Amino acid sequence: MGTDYHITVVGPVSGEFDINVEPLQQAVEEQLQLINQMMSTYISDSELMRFNSVAVNEWVELSEPVMEVLNISEDISQRSNGAFDITVGPLVNLWGFGPEMKPDQVPDADALAAALARTGHKHLQLDVNRARRTADIGVDLSAVAKGYGVDWIANFLADRGFDNFMVEIGGEVRVVGQSPRSTPWRIAIEQPSVLAGGARLALSVDNHAVATSGDYRNYFEVDGVRYSHTIDPVTGRPIKHNLASVTVVAETAARADAWATALNVLGPKKGMELANAEQLAVYMIVKTKDGFVDSQSVTFSQLLH
Ligand code: ADP
Ligand code: MG
Repeated sequence: MGTDYHITVVGPVSGEFDINVEPLQQAVEEQLQLINQMMSTYISDSELMRFNSVAVNEWVELSEPVMEVLNISEDISQRSNGAFDITVGPLVNLWGFGPEMKPDQVPDADALAAALARTGHKHLQLDVNRARRTADIGVDLSAVAKGYGVDWIANFLADRGFDNFMVEIGGEVRVVGQSPRSTPWRIAIEQPSVLAGGARLALSVDNHAVATSGDYRNYFEVDGVRYSHTIDPVTGRPIKHNLASVTVVAETAARADAWATALNVLGPKKGMELANAEQLAVYMIVKTKDGFVDSQSVTFSQLLH
C-alpha cells in the first residue's frame, strides 16, 4: 500500500500464553500482500488492474473482498453526491499521483478533458459477484483500501483470539478492547502540518476506527499553489479550499477512510453539513489567515463525553 503500518497486540493478563511476535508479524504481512494483490493500482497484475484492462461492457467475476470494497465505495459515492468516486484513476494519473509517475506539473486543458471523459462511477456496474465497466474508466481504490486493510487485519487478529489491539495502516486506525495499560486506546489527531507535527487532540475510543484526510502530506506545489492528491470528480482538478484536515470516526476503517476523502472533497461547509445529515462523527481543522480553526459534528461531540 506504499506506506507504513503499526500493530499493537496486548497479551493475556494471566500469562496463559506468550505472543510469538515473529510468526504473527509474518502472518499479518502475508494478509497485507493478499490485499495488495487484490486492490493495488501499483501491481499491474492485481485483481483490480486486470479488471481495469478487461474490455468495456464485459462482466468480470471478482473476489468477495473486492466486491465488498466496490459496494462500500458505491454507497459512499451516492451518499456524497459523487464527491467520493473510485473511477478517478485516469485523473489521479494525469495529476501525477498514481502509478504512472509524472513530473509535478499542471496538465493542459485537452488532457484534462480526456481524463474527465473516462471518469464517473455511473460507468461502473456491480452485480452480486461480478462487475463491469460500461466506459473506459480506471478504478482506483487508494482512498478506501488502506481502511479496508485495517479492518481485514483487525478481523484476522480477532479470529485468532486477540481481544485487545490496535491496527494502523498509513494513518488509518482501528482499535479493539483496551490498551496495554488497561485503559481505553487514545488516538491523536495530528497537527495539520508535517513541519510542526504532534497531537492536536487525543481521542479515547473503544472498538472504533479513525481516519484522516488532509492536504498537508501528499501534494505538489507550482507557483505557490498547492495541488493535493485528492481530486474533485466534478472539475477533475485537485481540491482547492481551506480545509487542512478532516477526521472521521466510524465503526469500520473502510468507511472512515472513504468518508474522510469524500468530506475532504466537499470542503468545510458542505462537508460538515453532510456529516451532520449522515450523523457521522467528524472533526475538521480549517485554515484561516490567522491560523487554524477547529469544528466538529454533533455526533463527534457526543463521542467525546
Ligand atoms: P487521504 O488520507 O488524503 O484521504 P487517501 O490515501 O485515503 O488519502 O486517498 C487519496 C487517494 O484516493 C488518492 O491518491 C487517489 O488515488 C484517490 N482519490 C483521489 N480523489 C478521490 C475521490 N474524489 N474519490 C475517491 N478516491 C479519490
Ligand atoms: Mg481515504
